[in-house]
Amino acid sequence: MNATAQPLVRFRGVGKSYDGVTPVVEGLDLDIQEGEFLSLLGPSGSGKTTCLMMLAGFESPSKGEIWLGDTLLNTTPPHKRNIGMVFQNYALFPHMSVAENVAYPLTVRRVDRAAKAEAVKRALDMVRMNEFADRLPKSLSGGQQQRIALARALVFNPRLVLMDEPLGALDKRLREHMQIELKDLHRTLGLTFVYVTHDQSEALTMSDRVAVFDNGRIQQIDRVDSLYETPSNGVVANFVGDNNVFVGRLISVQDGRAEVGLPDGERIFGQMVGAARVGDTVRACVRPERMTLCTRSGFDGGTPSLNTMHARTAGTLYFGDHVRVRFAVNQQEGGFVKVPLDDESLTEWSAGDELMLKFDERHLRIFA
Ligand code: ADP
Ligand code: MG
Repeated sequence: MNATAQPLVRFRGVGKSYDGVTPVVEGLDLDIQEGEFLSLLGPSGSGKTTCLMMLAGFESPSKGEIWLGDTLLNTTPPHKRNIGMVFQNYALFPHMSVAENVAYPLTVRRVDRAAKAEAVKRALDMVRMNEFADRLPKSLSGGQQQRIALARALVFNPRLVLMDEPLGALDKRLREHMQIELKDLHRTLGLTFVYVTHDQSEALTMSDRVAVFDNGRIQQIDRVDSLYETPSNGVVANFVGDNNVFVGRLISVQDGRAEVGLPDGERIFGQMVGAARVGDTVRACVRPERMTLCTRSGFDGGTPSLNTMHARTAGTLYFGDHVRVRFAVNQQEGGFVKVPLDDESLTEWSAGDELMLKFDERHLRIFA
């Protein structure tokens, strides 16, 4: 991925409304770099598929421009865009064999017989499905059908491959397996992938960058680590990864360090993100793995930058590789702390116990 070169794809001021009244995508400016794996992540209905469909050419923008290199796509029909597309429901032709399905984009492009056979073989090899060439789609499992759909999207050497929740119908184990295969394939081919998902862990594991959608707008687009560590607003913080949220009032801000008063009188400090005025209601967010717990009597005083809060245990959840201790705080929604399994203090917690939450103020982000 070369961030200094001209982006492969540019969305400029793109908007879309299906009924001419309600916007489903608004003010979309998006650069997609050659060779990157970019995911569009967001809740259902946030406009991800609409964006992908506009890029593929199955929907047209109501406003703005979409460019692929030097070509304005708005006026280019789908089959002339050189873009491969994989749908969630596979969309294979049921009456055609695997090989015929994969050959289809080449048939449409009037590629000659010999070149076509060669390309189909290569594409089926990529997804390790050559031995199934003569089968009908219905005789294949979901994961195998999705591999065929992928081969069909790759067979004509597209400049760009779009995938809309391609693993959504597969069970967890197969989905995780396919995530790794897709990522390996991306690396081997060096192609540009644009991937739609509502699953944040899928987006984080697979992508170079993620664009978080909400309400038809990109809330943040960033590398996966930045997105997780430095979300730029509360929507992103809550959609990407787990978060404990405490609602309070902003007491003061100095050099980006905010003091927040909680309803029960406790005060916590964190980093101010975005703009809020003293007295405003703010949301203080901290990742569960950034918190620790101790008993009241076991509290050693901590360090100057340590936030402490009184809480009660609400139960524990076993996760195999860690345990989640759920907690309750007065006048707040509950939350949880991730505790490593080898933490011997774990056995001390039972529901209703008084405890102390501890988290460094560097890890508390305050959103307006
Ligand atoms: P996502 O893929 O993020 O779930 P979509 O782009 O599919 O979101 O949908 C965004 C909004 O546009 C939703 O409110 C959806 O109901 C609406 N929508 C999507 N496709 C159509 C369509 N063909 N006609 C009318 N409304 C649509
Ligand atoms: Mg969708």
